[in-house]
Amino acid sequence: MAIRQIREEGDEILKKKSREIEVIDDKLQILIDDMIETMHKYNGVGLAAVQVGVLKRVLVIDLYDDKGAIVLINPEIIKTKGEQEVEEGCLSFPNQFAKIIRPMEVVVEALDRNGKKIKIKAKELLAQAICHEVDHLNGEVFIDKIIPGTLEYVNPNENNS
Ligand code: ZN
Repeated sequence: MAIRQIREEGDEILKKKSREIEVIDDKLQILIDDMIETMHKYNGVGLAAVQVGVLKRVLVIDLYDDKGAIVLINPEIIKTKGEQEVEEGCLSFPNQFAKIIRPMEVVVEALDRNGKKIKIKAKELLAQAICHEVDHLNGEVFIDKIIPGTLEYVNPNENNS
C-alpha cells in the first residue's frame, strides 16, 4: 500500500466527472487500498478517487467507529430525506471549514470492492460523507455549496487533537 498525493484546491481535475467502473481488477484493489491508507494518514472521513488524480467512480469512507472503512464503487444516491446543517471540510481544501446543508438521510446503491451489489441506508454523518464524496465523483466540491459567510480557515498548528 502507498500514500498517494492529494489533489488540492485549484487543481482542475477536481472539477471533472469521474467515469463508471466496468472492471474490478487488481489495479482497482490497489487503488482502493491506497485510498484507504491515504484517508487514514490525513485523518479524513472520506476520499474519492479523483482526489488522488484518478477519474473513476470509487470512494472510501471511514467514520472511525467499529465498522471500518466503507468502499463504494459506482455509487448512486437513490433517495434523500430531510436536511441537516453541518460543518464540513475536505482533504482537498486543507484547513478550511464551512457550514453546509446536507440531507439527513440517504439511500445509496453501489458495488462493494468485490463487485457485490449493496444498498446502504445512512443518516447524519454517514449521509453527509456519502453526499460529499459522491459530489466529488460528479466534479463538485463542497466549497461551491456552502452557506455564504460561514467559511473559516483553521491554523493546523493550533489544533492537533
Ligand atoms: Zn472532499
